[in-house]
Amino acid sequence: MTQAVVIDKTEDQQTVALRDITTADLPEGDVLVDVAWSTLNYKDALAITGAGPVVRSFPMVPGIDFAGVVRESSHPDFTAGDKVVLNGWGVGEKHWGGLAGQARVSGDWLIPLPAGMTARQAMVIGTAGYTAMLCVLALEAHGVTPDSGEIVVTGAAGGVGSVATMLLAARGYNVAAVTGRASEEAYLRDLGATSIIDRAELSGKPRPLAKERWAGAVDVAGSTVLANVLAGMKYGGVVAACGLAAGMDLPTSVAPFILRGVTLAGVDSVMAPKAKRIAAYDRLVSDLDLSRLEVIATEASLDKVVDIAPKFLSGEVRGRMVVPVNPT
Ligand code: NAP
Repeated sequence: MTQAVVIDKTEDQQTVALRDITTADLPEGDVLVDVAWSTLNYKDALAITGAGPVVRSFPMVPGIDFAGVVRESSHPDFTAGDKVVLNGWGVGEKHWGGLAGQARVSGDWLIPLPAGMTARQAMVIGTAGYTAMLCVLALEAHGVTPDSGEIVVTGAAGGVGSVATMLLAARGYNVAAVTGRASEEAYLRDLGATSIIDRAELSGKPRPLAKERWAGAVDVAGSTVLANVLAGMKYGGVVAACGLAAGMDLPTSVAPFILRGVTLAGVDSVMAPKAKRIAAYDRLVSDLDLSRLEVIATEASLDKVVDIAPKFLSGEVRGRMVVPVNPT
């Protein structure tokens, strides 16, 4: 017997509760994992609150990521006792996820816990941080270097934004951190931001082109924020877009692309192939000072996640929120 956050839906009514479950309740898969740590991401908040169409079937255990220890495996790559990490693959959306004492998943979705990283550190990074790494890799793949100029990071005090700021600063980039929370300036400068931009500056009606300011961008916001970021890119700039915290729409024009050669690089972490994941985690280990991760971490116990989830949607959570399940 273990516990799980379970989302259920009857007619139009969604309910969420912490329930007892058994191993027999878990979905099919060739690896059974004792979850050590899970986390709350923006997407988990959408699932738990029902504010976005994240959950595809009910009942569902949310939790798009977890780190834990293999209990049973018939997958050739894993044996009992292996330490593993999972991000995405529809877990917590269409396959029961990490906000539970145990998870049964396909071994194809798991990667080994990187050497030198604890399960807790892997979850402080979590899907948000791994996505931030994918964004930085996308900028690099399009030729952006610290000499190219300043990089703008939106939603900087959130999960993706905090790790993106740390990663870019560690590589020697000047980082302009966009935040709606002036009170987080000291936090963002501590992460390595070299300048702070009030989110309101990028939330007005976008013009097709604005003053050339940034060589690159990591955008978690979408909508008018992304449109204003695109308009403010320098000639040849690159924008890694991964999120929709401001909205799903994109009220822009082709001007940044055809007049300034700007590249809009889409970043998806959910279905990214295994090799790309392992490369991203290798870079997370080498680039991040893991001992500094605690600066961005807060904890929520499994019985508190339902109450805390709405705070993600109102932009009140700073950095990353980890959930100790069977902490190791
Ligand atoms: P988070 O921790 O909740 O951070 C989001 C941040 O966005 C907030 O802390 C806030 O930062 C900012 N924000 C909130 N409302 C906003 C608004 N209306 N306009 C502009 N900025 C706003 O969430 P997260 O886990 O970092 O995820 C961020 C986004 O990336 C989400 O949309 C998520 O779904 C997406 N995501 C996508 C992938 C992928 O594979 N593509 C993976 C992970 C996450 P400030 O207070 O500093 O402004």
